[in-house]
Amino acid sequence: MPMALTWPAADPRRVTILGATGSIGQSTLDLIGGAPERYEVVALTGQRNVERLAAAARRYRAQLAVVGDPAAYASLKEALAGSGIEVAGGPQGLIEAAERSADWVMAAIVGAAGLEPTLAAVRRGAMVALATKEALICAGALLLEEVRSSGAVLLPVDSEHNAIFQAVQGERHDNIERLFLTASGGPFRRHSLREMASATPSQAVAHPNWSMGAKISVDSATMMNKGLELIEAHHLFGLAADQIEILVHPESIVHSLVGFRDGSVLAQLGPPDMRIPIAYTLGWPDRIPAPTPRLDLTLIGQLNFELPDLERFPALGLARAALARGGAVPAVLNAANEVAVAAFLTCRIGFLDIAAIVEATLASCEYGKPEGLPHILAIDAAARRTAHALIAGRPAAAAAGL
Ligand code: NDP
Repeated sequence: MPMALTWPAADPRRVTILGATGSIGQSTLDLIGGAPERYEVVALTGQRNVERLAAAARRYRAQLAVVGDPAAYASLKEALAGSGIEVAGGPQGLIEAAERSADWVMAAIVGAAGLEPTLAAVRRGAMVALATKEALICAGALLLEEVRSSGAVLLPVDSEHNAIFQAVQGERHDNIERLFLTASGGPFRRHSLREMASATPSQAVAHPNWSMGAKISVDSATMMNKGLELIEAHHLFGLAADQIEILVHPESIVHSLVGFRDGSVLAQLGPPDMRIPIAYTLGWPDRIPAPTPRLDLTLIGQLNFELPDLERFPALGLARAALARGGAVPAVLNAANEVAVAAFLTCRIGFLDIAAIVEATLASCEYGKPEGLPHILAIDAAARRTAHALIAGRPAAAAAGL
């Protein structure tokens, strides 16, 4: 029996994409472009990439285009002159885009910068496809509280969480015993610490299976991404950290598994193409046709699984410890990681320094339970200052008073 659909075929779904110029945003637009009659694009946002944002806004006839960087507003206005598309700029413009009355919002701004616009979409009770995992890491309790009080629907986009979400449909929560999050192991899965010490940004972003933005690609290489996903899974599915295991699965075909109390294990499989989980959220609660590659297990032949190596990938242990400590610690972990990854991508620190900076930042900060959004934003800012100071050198960290 089909579930009751909230989206009758005759009504186009009104959609907004926060982070439309990025990897997830472009994949979402690709799906929309395959059936334009089914969607009405309300708002599209980017940060600096005016050319890509303006092209998408024209092609998909967006009502509003917003560029987060105020300095880029004038060139976006110029690029969209005569199109009839409204233009806005700056952080407040991003929130305005999220507040426009779209039925479905893709939250795909990279980093904690996506928190406030995501919250704005959640607060008005929208269906929110959540790619911005950093929002859940730094404000998980607050975000979920807002989801409950507004009646918003949170649809996980991350392939692992989307797989779990698919596997638990129709299941009672207390039937779930454990979750297995799969990880590709990234480009350095077989590298020694010595080899990783000299890894360059271009090596780190060259993911073996997935095509993604630079930040998440580096997170995959350090395996911090899996650590962030552990925290994300804890919030989304309400399970304790010791019920969530990590399995390195280099083929990236099994996107995650759910173990139930009768010993059954359900998994979702598919080729590593983000358009598959995105399509699941875009059509939800129905499924939509998607022009994605089809899985051929005979071509793959073998699926492998192994435990992660916490010595070579210390970020995973840092994230697990941050979840155990709770409170604002995951927010500090996330902020320090964002600063360290940006420093690595601009060649200011080495690859192994990323986890070291995160660890040192965590050791320098002590915060209790976050009390609301302003407190979370203050914690995030303080952790960033600490991480920046640590990158500049320990004496500077002391000077920052941390
Ligand atoms: P990209 O770097 O490709 O895109 C990021 C998007 O965010 C762009 O639209 C960018 O605009 C915008 N942006 C960057 N900084 C800011 C800012 N300060 N304020 C507002 N907007 C900003 O990232 P991805 O698409 O790869 O990832 C997006 C999110 O999805 C991340 O949280 C990531 O962890 C998550 N995710 C991604 C997956 C993937 O396969 N890519 C898989 C699972 C989760 P501009 O282009 O103009 O700079």
